[in-house]
Amino acid sequence: MPEESFIGLRAYGQIDLDILEALVIELNQIFPFPITILEGCGSPEFAYNPARQQYLSKAILEDLVRKAPPGCKRIVGLTEVDLFIPILTYVYGEAMLPGQAAVVSLYRLSGKDTGTPVPFDVMVQRVFKEVVHELGHTFNLVHCDDNNCVMSFAHDLEHIDQKSDRFCRYCSVLFSDALRQSL
Ligand SMILES: [Zn+2]
Ligand SMILES: [Zn+2]
Repeated sequence: MPEESFIGLRAYGQIDLDILEALVIELNQIFPFPITILEGCGSPEFAYNPARQQYLSKAILEDLVRKAPPGCKRIVGLTEVDLFIPILTYVYGEAMLPGQAAVVSLYRLSGKDTGTPVPFDVMVQRVFKEVVHELGHTFNLVHCDDNNCVMSFAHDLEHIDQKSDRFCRYCSVLFSDALRQSL
C-alpha cells in the first residue's frame, strides 16, 4: 500500500475537537494507518429528508467519497444529525461494504435524542466502537455472532456499552486478510 495512505475523519457540522482527538488516539491502537482530522464540512443538509426529519446516511457516504483527498484510504464522517436508511427507523452509522467511506451519528450515542446528555467518556467510547465497527465493514467484515466483538450488531445502546471495542479473534483474521489484499 502507498506510504501516504491514511484514515481521515471529517465532521459534518459541529463536532467538538476533544471528541475527534480522542478518536484519533483510540483508532491508532487498532488501524495500521495514520489517522488524520480533515477540514470539517457544514451540516449535511443535502441529505435531509423532510418527511422523516432525518438524514439519509447513503447521501453522506457518497459526499465523503466525492470529497476524499488523495491518499485517503478510508474516510469517516461524524455528525450530530440523526441518520436513517430507508428500511430502518434510524441507524447509529453506515458504511460501504467494502468501500472507502463510513459515517457515524452522535445523535443517539450522545443522548441528544432524549435530551439527557451522557458523560463525555461514555459518549466517546460509544462513538469509538461505532467508528471501529463501521470501518470494519469498509474492510469487508460482516456482523459477528460474538456479542463481545465490536463487529456484533448493536440493537441498542446497552449492547454498545457492553461489547468490547476490538475485533474478536475471528474478525481479526479477516481484517488481516483484507489488509493483505489491500482492500
Ligand atoms: Zn454493522
Ligand atoms: Zn467478531
